[in-house]
Amino acid sequence: MDFYSRQITTLIEQLSKLPGIGAKSAGRLAFHIIGMPENDVSALADAIKDAKANIHYCKECFTFTDAELCPICADDARDHSTIMVVENVRDLAAYEKTGKYNGVYHVLHGVISPMAGTGPSDIRLKELMTRLSKEDVKEVIIATGSSLEGETTAMYISKLIKPTGIKVSRIASGVPVGGDLENIDEVTLVRALSGRTEL
Ligand code: ZN
Repeated sequence: MDFYSRQITTLIEQLSKLPGIGAKSAGRLAFHIIGMPENDVSALADAIKDAKANIHYCKECFTFTDAELCPICADDARDHSTIMVVENVRDLAAYEKTGKYNGVYHVLHGVISPMAGTGPSDIRLKELMTRLSKEDVKEVIIATGSSLEGETTAMYISKLIKPTGIKVSRIASGVPVGGDLENIDEVTLVRALSGRTEL
């Protein structure tokens, strides 16, 4: 890409490191950014730096937060005896948007995937078990996706929790196979939650 100046090439290279951004999209984004007003570019750059500098894991549920506890874990009005286990923060957001779930969450940050070389110790499972041993939990709702990896992870977790005597349930399917929770409409999400079955 010698026909661009060094700065543009660097910007395109950096943008193309982002997931889902190929060389073409990176080029489009780079020229869009260069055409943006200076203030907007500064705001974008500041937002990226600020998020990276101040966001970390909630010490309870491992979602992202700028405080020790996320607003959900810090909320006494939520039912802390019900924990919904989700793959990622986007799935947590999908359920939060329905406004129909009053428990708390546990974010795994991944699923067990032998194909991708992701084992149980690569996701936040140990942290979930530690939570269950410390807190008074009555039910764990497994809301991993319906992909093969999501199902494998759900079975693995349920086997792990069973001996503790804590109720384990799985959200109902109705969620398309292989579908990510974030792409599913709210009605389906709520139905999957209310139709959950005990494992
Ligand atoms: Zn939290």
